[in-house]
Amino acid sequence: MSLVDPSSRAALAAESRGPVLVPGDPGYDAARSVWNARVDRRPDAVLRCRGAADVAAGVSFARDRGLTLGVKGGGHHVSGAAVPDGGLLVDLSPMDRVRVDPAERVARVGPGATWGDVDPETQAHGLAVPGGQDPNIGVGGLTLGGGVGWLSRQHGLTCDNLLAADVVTAGGDLLRATVTENPDLFWALRGGGGQFGVVTEFTFRLHEVGPTVLAGSLVYPADRTAAVARYYREFVAEAPRAARPLFGSMVLPDASAYPESVRGERVAIIVVCYAGPPPAGRRALEPLRERGDPVMDSFRPRPYVEFQRAGDSEGARRTDLRSQYMERLGEDAIGTIVAGVEDAPSDGATVFVSPRGGAETDPPTDATAYPHRSDAHHCLVEARWDDPERDAAHDAWVRSLHEALQPYATGDVALNFLADEEPPERRRAAYGDNYERLLDVKRAWDPAGVFGGPAPVKP
Ligand SMILES: Cc1cc2nc3c(=O)[nH]c(=O)nc-3n(C[C@H](O)[C@H](O)[C@H](O)COP(=O)(O)OP(=O)(O)OC[C@H]3O[C@@H](n4cnc5c(N)ncnc54)[C@H](O)[C@@H]3O)c2cc1C
Repeated sequence: MSLVDPSSRAALAAESRGPVLVPGDPGYDAARSVWNARVDRRPDAVLRCRGAADVAAGVSFARDRGLTLGVKGGGHHVSGAAVPDGGLLVDLSPMDRVRVDPAERVARVGPGATWGDVDPETQAHGLAVPGGQDPNIGVGGLTLGGGVGWLSRQHGLTCDNLLAADVVTAGGDLLRATVTENPDLFWALRGGGGQFGVVTEFTFRLHEVGPTVLAGSLVYPADRTAAVARYYREFVAEAPRAARPLFGSMVLPDASAYPESVRGERVAIIVVCYAGPPPAGRRALEPLRERGDPVMDSFRPRPYVEFQRAGDSEGARRTDLRSQYMERLGEDAIGTIVAGVEDAPSDGATVFVSPRGGAETDPPTDATAYPHRSDAHHCLVEARWDDPERDAAHDAWVRSLHEALQPYATGDVALNFLADEEPPERRRAAYGDNYERLLDVKRAWDPAGVFGGPAPVKP
């Protein structure tokens, strides 16, 4: 049965407040599109949800008719797993309300909100929840997959700051999950992805942050990449938790904001956000800023919201990426990265390395479903481009650099950075030692496999 058939569409529309869109309807293509422009999936229908009751109607409708169900938050996951080919897409993006209770220090966030929606609201009170480093990322997928960002060394993962989730279950029931209510479900939602239910509201604990933080970057010519990687490594080893650095190789925009010698050029870069008082940040960053004579030093006190916006990855482009963790950023790994970026197929090819540590790794491995609780470096090899004829060149570059880095990799995998065509062992590694317990939760809450995702567990 296809939802394109008018009577089925009318039946779903009768049960929901939000519109039901089918191919050809205005808004259908926007609703099915995701951040990775390579993903071109065509659900039979899209339910643009206006509330939890719509979500429950969509889940029940798809389940009862055996339709494939997709659930889209921000649509930012590189795999495009949110959107099904055929079946029903439950589009949460209209549910983007953010309410902050400054006295209680909590934020209640709709599942269609992005970090670009959340940060200005929380920062209006000088508060924040650790979120993603690109304002386009959805709160939904990021939180359910763990969630790292500029604040996570100091305040933990996004999922560690989740206090409650309102959930629509596979049975179409609406319930709440917290450490005391439906605790097994709550455990699984914090790192196990969206495969146990649809979250219709996230309640987060907030922390005092800024609103002014010390943040910026140090830029060096590309021929200094190896040395800059070492500066990053040495800084991480000593840095206070309030400082989260990132080291990368990228091509700068050809813009007047950058010194002429590096405009439009590949550079080595270190970006840091210091989330404590700026004077303390200046002292903490001094050893790093004194090293290696950067061509640009843009550290200054600035609004946290402004810094978050600077991570905007700007619209849909074709994308391939592979992520891995390395226990140490050793000389061999640095040499592999340097050789890799020398072979970059275009300006959109990047490597970024960031630390996993601090508050992020304080909880034990089984505290939540998110299992990666030991100190390491996350290394993201990513390419973005526009011309479909250049797919093969970019895929080959991403995959061969990923392969070359494997001798230094821990083997654990971030669910939030799993690409579409990854082998089963990488999918399983996203859950580490928590895999068996997640199977039990899946058996209890979604035995028929109504919900999927980038790496569904299958009892
Ligand atoms: C360039 C780039 C930068 C990134 N930066 C960061 C970063 O700084 N930190 C970080 O942690 N991650 C980062 N990510 C990864 C990002 O966290 C994931 O892609 C995340 O899943 C995106 O969430 P979303 O809601 O936008 O995704 P979607 O594509 O909408 O969803 C991803 C998955 O979650 C499911 N889902 C979404 N919302 C819900 C819900 N409410 N209930 C149930 N299931 C749901 C979807 O069905 C889908 O399977 C980045 C990714 C890229 C490509």
